Amino acid sequence: MTINSAIVIDIIKSIAKTLAENKEYLTELDSAIGDADHGINMDRGFNTVLTKLPSLEGKDIGTILKTVGMTLVSTVGGASGPLYGTAFMRAGQAVAGKNEIDEKDILTIFEAALQGIKERGKAVAGEKTMIDALEPALKSYRDAVDNNIGLAEALNRAVDAAKEGMEYTKNIIATKGRASYLGERSIGHQDPGATSSYLLLQAAARVVNS
Ligand code: ADP
Ligand code: MG
Ligand code: MG
Repeated sequence: MTINSAIVIDIIKSIAKTLAENKEYLTELDSAIGDADHGINMDRGFNTVLTKLPSLEGKDIGTILKTVGMTLVSTVGGASGPLYGTAFMRAGQAVAGKNEIDEKDILTIFEAALQGIKERGKAVAGEKTMIDALEPALKSYRDAVDNNIGLAEALNRAVDAAKEGMEYTKNIIATKGRASYLGERSIGHQDPGATSSYLLLQAAARVVNS
């Protein structure tokens, strides 16, 4: 199975819709251990991305993803803007010039995106961030691709792993970002960024499965 530029645009629309629907939820999570703006930040960023989509029709996937990244960097304040922005920009670089991508290309995208987040945020798994959803998701996705499971099912497994990772963030202490100011008091709360990462993957998988 392959994904073309039009499907990538559908995926971005799906992500924007999901983040809009979860704006209050994400902000509520951030109000417990941050500054109550994560849903607002993500929704603002992807709303601006939506306005750019008409000009991206017919463009290659690398250009589309790079534009999403640059838009997020310039419109989303806070930690999540540069982090998700870097992820999408790196993803775009990884498939520069391509009009069609397969599950292996998506693995390359996923690896580049997560690497970008880790470098930009100087964080690793276990610090109660979006990485705790994304890293297990990447591992599950890679295992599924190695086993020739097929793109749609591979993405579903990634979503399941992201959900588990997101839930696990409740049990750990934040050592990066605003939540780290709370130290042990961050325990018991689910990380907003891990939650938006899960939602983002779920929105992408939904399009591929439809
Ligand atoms: P801010 O904390 O600046 O208000 P957001 O609320 O939009 O930004 O995003 C917060 C999320 O960003 C956190 O829940 C966490 O998942 C993620 N985050 C914060 N710092 C880092 C980091 N250094 N590396 C990876 N993710 C991070
Ligand atoms: Mg915040
Ligand atoms: Mg903020």
